[in-house]
Amino acid sequence: MSNAILVVGGGFSGLTAAIEAAEVGYDVFIVEKSPFLGGRVAQLNKYFPKLCPPSCGLEIQFQRIKNNPRIKFFTQACVQKVQGSAGNFTVTVAIEPRHTAPNSADLSLLASSLQGEAENDFEFGLAKRKPLYLSAPFSFPSRYVLDKSAVGKEDQIKLAGNPFIEMNEAPREITLEVASIVLATGWKPYDASNLTNLGASTLQNCISNMQMERLASPHGPTKGKITRPSDGASPKNIAFVQCAGSRDENHLNYCSYICCMASLKQALYLREQYPSAKVTIYYIDLRTPGRYENFRKKVMADEHITLVKGKVAGVEGLAGGDVLLEVEDAVHGVKGKHQHDLVVLATGMQPSLASGCNPFGVTLDNDGFVVEEAEKGIFAAGCAKQPLDVMRSAQSGTSAALKAIQTVRRR
Ligand SMILES: Cc1cc2nc3c(=O)[nH]c(=O)nc-3n(C[C@H](O)[C@H](O)[C@H](O)COP(=O)(O)OP(=O)(O)OC[C@H]3O[C@@H](n4cnc5c(N)ncnc54)[C@H](O)[C@@H]3O)c2cc1C
Repeated sequence: MSNAILVVGGGFSGLTAAIEAAEVGYDVFIVEKSPFLGGRVAQLNKYFPKLCPPSCGLEIQFQRIKNNPRIKFFTQACVQKVQGSAGNFTVTVAIEPRHTAPNSADLSLLASSLQGEAENDFEFGLAKRKPLYLSAPFSFPSRYVLDKSAVGKEDQIKLAGNPFIEMNEAPREITLEVASIVLATGWKPYDASNLTNLGASTLQNCISNMQMERLASPHGPTKGKITRPSDGASPKNIAFVQCAGSRDENHLNYCSYICCMASLKQALYLREQYPSAKVTIYYIDLRTPGRYENFRKKVMADEHITLVKGKVAGVEGLAGGDVLLEVEDAVHGVKGKHQHDLVVLATGMQPSLASGCNPFGVTLDNDGFVVEEAEKGIFAAGCAKQPLDVMRSAQSGTSAALKAIQTVRRR
């Protein structure tokens, strides 16, 4: 019987759970479905409240993992089957091939010489990527991935001669014996294409808040210059639509907790780049709990940022790319139309397990969050359990690690 702990998901909560458990002497396996660790935080430009880049928090975690031989991680890996019970699980994991050798030479020149292109999920449709790619400069592991489905004939010839490319690497299946499991599968952005009344899939200049993170990132598709997707123009009059699909029984029936803070943060991104730009945040009610109040006050002190309590009922695209918002102003009781050149939809966080497969046998609530049943020996951390910010996701990772350790000790 093994004393090891399995952590599913290598975002901030999963990394924290893994490191905390390993640093008190337990063997830990991390199973991460994407090619890199770091989760959604790696896609942010900066994170509140300190507004530091994601690398500052993640790199410390990566270093702790590198230095701890008790942690083994598998990327492009998915749990297929969980058998057994608390204290004694056998877990089958499928691992997709990366098609590049470990300790490869720098493959950046080869990557940029390739002609094939594929949709870049990391950039939320704002850019394409090459078939051979890293997601971000600080990707961990810092190892290229080859997406064979995007390789054309000419690229195949270039790749064939390279000793670090393993075209024939096959998928693998491994079995892990573990005593307890932490589910840290996190969240995905709510599918904005469901928000047809807000122009999400029809108007190029109605972007999602995660697209805004990528536009503002120096590693993103515009190298950090926030521009309008339709024509690359600098926006001058930007709107944020809060609760876009949240607290709405037809979409996400809950508050995602971080969207108000995310929009206030993104208003600062815009104001830093465009000192004369005007930002309007349309909200139902502003949620900046606890110490985040100070952040709200700081942002609201900027006279170029206006907050309007009102629900955006609809949007209309105008010639030239501007967007007309129809807003019911809740304070003055009037309906008005307001023209903006860029609209950011503050969409919420939906648990990854909401629509994926659930081989863990855990109960999910109506929204797809994990309902904790401690006797099962499977514990949830971070946004798999509820919408949280990074700090609380890390705290929740620590507490899940403790619960997982208790299961090991009780055997
Ligand atoms: C627009 C926006 C801006 C934000 N800005 C901030 C901010 O400034 N500050 C802040 O504190 N918070 C911010 N947040 C919230 C922050 O992103 C979350 O708190 C954080 O990502 C939660 O980490 P997590 O590990 O729980 O989940 P995630 O970051 O989602 O990580 C989960 C990991 O699990 C993996 N995974 C999923 N399913 C599986 C599976 N079945 N098998 C294996 N692996 C799987 C995923 O690939 C991912 O790597 C923001 C959120 C949004 C929407």
